[in-house]
Amino acid sequence: MDTTVFTTVESEVRSYSRGWPTVFVKAKGAVQTDEDGREFLDFFAGAGALNYGHNHPKVQQAVADYLTTDAPVHSMDMMTPAKRDFLETFRDVILQPRGLDYKVMFPGPTGTNTVEAALKLARKVTGRQHILSFTNAFHGMTLGALSVTGNSMKRKGAGIPLTNSSKIPYDDYFGGATEDFLWLERVLDDSGSGVDKPAAIIVETVQGEGGVNAARLEWLKALADLCNKHEILLIVDDVQAGCGRTGTFFSFEEAGFTPDIVCLSKSISGYGQPMALTLFRPELDVWEPGEHNGTFRGNNLAFVAATTSLREFWADDSFQKGQLAENIEVLRGGLEQIAGAAEGATVRGRGLFGGLHFEDLEVAGKVAAECFAQGLLVETSGPDDEVLKFLPPLNTPKDQLERGLGIVAAAVTTVTG
Ligand code: PMP
Repeated sequence: MDTTVFTTVESEVRSYSRGWPTVFVKAKGAVQTDEDGREFLDFFAGAGALNYGHNHPKVQQAVADYLTTDAPVHSMDMMTPAKRDFLETFRDVILQPRGLDYKVMFPGPTGTNTVEAALKLARKVTGRQHILSFTNAFHGMTLGALSVTGNSMKRKGAGIPLTNSSKIPYDDYFGGATEDFLWLERVLDDSGSGVDKPAAIIVETVQGEGGVNAARLEWLKALADLCNKHEILLIVDDVQAGCGRTGTFFSFEEAGFTPDIVCLSKSISGYGQPMALTLFRPELDVWEPGEHNGTFRGNNLAFVAATTSLREFWADDSFQKGQLAENIEVLRGGLEQIAGAAEGATVRGRGLFGGLHFEDLEVAGKVAAECFAQGLLVETSGPDDEVLKFLPPLNTPKDQLERGLGIVAAAVTTVTG
């Protein structure tokens, strides 16, 4: 199989899906089918945008029903029943039970839009310009989001220096040496250090694109304490790690702190419909009307899908404590077993956000190609694409999860054996 060219339609520009040289015609749950009738288990799930799988029947039905009513599909900033239902459901099902008091902003359709809004808001609120972010961070492809992204390959294309941001070491970057933030406190307190107090620090609790690096909860809490002490806003980018991926709806829930600003996108609609939210403490609402706007912020199909998904999966804790918790055990157990049997392999991640890191930088890509040949879609991440990244739908049936892990185990043996 030639995985280097994907020439189905010659006019399409290079993209990372060249590793999957086929045409997908059907997608249901955790399975996609190509036009030759081959079935693939999907442990990529739209890069984490399909946490409840493809075409969940109840969500699909709700969207289909809505489409037949002639209710507004695109409504920009106008209020519609679908938008109102979403806001009420998000408040009642997600925010209130967690004791969270956030304003909800629709910053634009994608993850990078919510990051831009968060960065702008932090600068406006504090009057400071500088933003700190982390080694190996990924926050999106627009200029502001790129400036806080760690991967220099992704930033190169911008062609101009990206200013007003500095990178600091993520947890375990030096092999566990960044347990506390004393060094950062020291430079922030020292007028001779040349380090200006930042407006905000932006962090992913698990770095997806950066190689499935999961920060320890105590490290995250120490970061939150530092921000609190120095009046620096803490932005958690939960675009990939949120919406249940780590085992709780928000990825910071178990770490015992409340971020000032939270970015959500990807799986918030639960149906692959573009949607993003920026959540922030009410007292940070300094926006003038129209100061941050955009055309596609009123996607009613996304609102309907999101409301249905939230009610289906999060109205009580039966999904979180039941199928999700069980799947997390299956995934982590499976990955530990694979890593135990393969030289130079280690398990990464948290919850159903799994990674397998290989010392030999060539291995992950070869294993992903072999998985495709055997009927499993799985992507690589990390600065050298040296990590296999597992994002199966949260509700993947156990037998499919186990079958997929079996394909990975066999592929690792084929490649490394
Ligand atoms: N933040 C994080 C943590 C992400 O993983 C991504 C997407 N991979 C983004 C932001 C950007 O989201 P989008 O691609 O929807 O712009």
